[in-house]
Amino acid sequence: AAPDLLLPRVVLSKDGAAITRVDQTHVTLLTYVPGKVYARVRPQLPELRHSLGAVCGQISSALRTFQHPHAARWHKWDGAQAAWIAEYLPDIADTERRAWVAAHLRRFEELLPTLRLTRRQAIHADANDYNVLVDQTSGFPGQVCSVIDFGDLVESHVICDVAVACAYALLDQADPLAAAADVVRGYHQAFPLSEAEIALLFPLICMRLSVSVTNAAHRKQTEDDPYIVISERPAWDALEKLQSIHPRFAHYVLRAACGYEPVPHSQRVRAYLKTQATLCPSLVGTDLRTSPLTVLDLSVGSLLLGADPANAQCASLSRLVDVALAQEGVEIGIGRYDEARLIYTSDLFAASANPTVERRTIHIGLDVWMAEGTPLYAPLAGVVECVIENPAPLDYGPLLILRHETPDGDDFYTLYGHLAADVLARWKVNDSVAAGDLIAHIGGSARNGQWPPHVHFQIITDLLDYGRDFPGVALASQRAIWLSLSPDPNELLAISPERFPVEPSYTTTLAARRARLGGNLSLSYRTPLKIQRGWRQFLYDDTGRAYLDMYNNVPHVGHSHPHVVQAIQQQTALLTTNTRYLHDNVLRYAERLCAKLPAELEVCFFVNSASEANELGLRLARAFTGARDLIVMDAAYHGHTTSLIDISPYKFNGPGGQGQVDWVHVAPIPDDYRGSFKRSDPERGAKYATAVEEIILDLQAQGRSLAGFIAESLPSVGGQIIPPPGYLSAVYAAVRAAGGVCIADEVQVGFGRLGDYFWGFELDQVVPDIIVCGKPIGNGYPLGAVITTRAIAEAFDNGMEFFSTFGGNPVACAAGLAVLDVLERENLLQNAATVGRLLLDGLQDLMEPYAIIGDVRGVGLFLGLELVNDRQTLEPAAAQASYLVNRLRDYGILAGTDGPLHNVIKLRPSMIFSSQDVEFFLTVFASLLQEDGAQPRA
Ligand code: PMP
Repeated sequence: AAPDLLLPRVVLSKDGAAITRVDQTHVTLLTYVPGKVYARVRPQLPELRHSLGAVCGQISSALRTFQHPHAARWHKWDGAQAAWIAEYLPDIADTERRAWVAAHLRRFEELLPTLRLTRRQAIHADANDYNVLVDQTSGFPGQVCSVIDFGDLVESHVICDVAVACAYALLDQADPLAAAADVVRGYHQAFPLSEAEIALLFPLICMRLSVSVTNAAHRKQTEDDPYIVISERPAWDALEKLQSIHPRFAHYVLRAACGYEPVPHSQRVRAYLKTQATLCPSLVGTDLRTSPLTVLDLSVGSLLLGADPANAQCASLSRLVDVALAQEGVEIGIGRYDEARLIYTSDLFAASANPTVERRTIHIGLDVWMAEGTPLYAPLAGVVECVIENPAPLDYGPLLILRHETPDGDDFYTLYGHLAADVLARWKVNDSVAAGDLIAHIGGSARNGQWPPHVHFQIITDLLDYGRDFPGVALASQRAIWLSLSPDPNELLAISPERFPVEPSYTTTLAARRARLGGNLSLSYRTPLKIQRGWRQFLYDDTGRAYLDMYNNVPHVGHSHPHVVQAIQQQTALLTTNTRYLHDNVLRYAERLCAKLPAELEVCFFVNSASEANELGLRLARAFTGARDLIVMDAAYHGHTTSLIDISPYKFNGPGGQGQVDWVHVAPIPDDYRGSFKRSDPERGAKYATAVEEIILDLQAQGRSLAGFIAESLPSVGGQIIPPPGYLSAVYAAVRAAGGVCIADEVQVGFGRLGDYFWGFELDQVVPDIIVCGKPIGNGYPLGAVITTRAIAEAFDNGMEFFSTFGGNPVACAAGLAVLDVLERENLLQNAATVGRLLLDGLQDLMEPYAIIGDVRGVGLFLGLELVNDRQTLEPAAAQASYLVNRLRDYGILAGTDGPLHNVIKLRPSMIFSSQDVEFFLTVFASLLQEDGAQPRA
């Protein structure tokens, strides 16, 4: 029925039999199916589980018409026949655990009549994690390619087949429900499941696990076969985790996985609310549809809040809300439904103290910010479900929940939070409330967690068992479920949607970017990130998820550093102009920069980017030498302009590159790990410099003169290389002897990143003739600088004006000055040295257990990790480097790959990186190194 499915197939004997006898044994010969056993695949990611579901669904689809006289049989592993475990419950020694299983059994028995109404056919019924094979030949984590072992094939209900696949796929997973949902999603796509079937799934999964543990408990008593108990511990762990999940919530999650509305009656409740919108009394007495009001943006990317978490503290928030209302000249503020917010900083919003565990960010009510004491009226008739003073630790003031019913008989609730205390005396549970009744007043900030006065208004379609603790803020990963549990209160308030400024969704942004920006403007990661906020060493995406930034070197002293921000704000509010007028900022900055440099480097030029700075460096060298030819280093990148592409082998030899121009000469990278001269050779620095000397001799033989040599003092784009001692000094000497100048591109390595050195060239105790700075020096404000000797500057001053409109403007220089202030005040070079050493040591410790790490190198917070498949041949492990960087992102850590062979993991966090960050990174990284995708290729 399904010739394309990769399955073990029966090989008939010479006389055409499927089963034959060898000695006393019945044997059947099956074709071999290659693949890795699912249970041993690490990690088991959502896409893998999706493919598991899909293959199981395809098998069921193929079995749809399969008939066999013995298919309908008694079988203890058939989910529909699982009631047999009743007899063996006493074998479970632990009373609490026995009670869990007993409860699952009771539920199963209650559901049996419903189960009997669902589809029946032959099902595989045993997609356990040792029967499932994974193909990893085209990447990791791989794809499920086959399910073997048809020994449990039975005529039963299709949904029982799904339950088995889910029950094993969720073993040992942090979020078992999400794991089950992934399988169901794949199954449903291949072989659609009905709503009635899905309603049975969670209890059947629990029952399958119950059968497994009961079977193990029983057989353990008489047998000694390790296979019997292979799933026992993980199955108990899973049952324990599932205990804490409300079965209806699980049902909603599984429905959502199949594309059904998570809460079945949510749609009907919404439709009813819509019919009431124009009829019902106003919540706050004045009609919100026509009242002057403003929508307050409290999202991750809120300009009102900015990045500083201090603004999310209630006192600041109160002030900001007041200011925003005053600015708009209105008395009513609206806080948006379905908005990702980072204002919930209390640990109550964290599922765990582990930074990799998701925090709740999605606001699922609607706030009306109005004066304390504003009366509130019931928009709909109902009955008091709950009225309570929210006690510590929540401390959010009194709360009222009303129960309502739609004409179709669906219950739903309205919730009013942060109320004044009079609500407590006004109502008791089960009181009837008429539409328009005064129900409460908005509380003051004193008794609602110091929040500015407002009512949090929320609709709830199923209270589950939360009662008064029903969340008002949900996990982004469960967004669809919670939006169905708590539909938009504006269905009832009917404030026109045009009054809600909309934030483009992730998909809108992605599509708009593709439509409006150039295609070769690349995006990082297979699933690009939409970053909305940066604070210190963290970036935050549109759902409020935090990422530890170990990649971006521009925010040198941390994202959104308040001192830099303030310097820019104050100066831009006063003056920004150009260098044709006298101004002290540019001079202050030039002074401070030169103070960090050897005395010879004394004349500064300011531009807007490192590209512009390198471009100028090139002009200076040519003006001074009158020559054109330049020696560059292999795999180097110096910027995106026409001339800089010509001097960047990384570009001109890369995809789309036009090849080398005749005035550019490429010297090899002095890479003492991979190159011709290794670390064991004390003369390697001089030996690598010989290549440059040879280029010079060659030029001289051709009668050409040399403008200079340009290189990053430590090649970063070239793979985080630390040139061996003696290299730069020998090269500089040779270049100068040939009449050339030495340009140091310090864009990535300069400015203290190396910890013990402010500049990269200090490592080999040389002094360049021209240094080029950019990127980190403005902490994100566009700023580039070129500093050179008096003689070179004078040669350049040949009558042609030098002018860069924005270069050296007062705002840019204020930013630059502020960065220097922070580096000094916060002692960040010292920090880079100590924290960098910790990181380097930690990574070096990982070399012993993990053969994939060929080399660990670094100075300060400039680190590289070179991955190889073989430490002898140094065969690059680029796929694994890319795998690890993508996995780090899954764990909320941003890193990158670099190097000519793309096998170097590049780490260059901001200068405020801390020892806790190092510890967190190393823990995550060590765990990722154990995954399949991080293993050396044999
Ligand atoms: N030089 C080096 C070493 C760089 O890494 C870069 C940017 N990656 C540049 C120059 C060019 O910088 P920008 O894009 O800011 O012009």
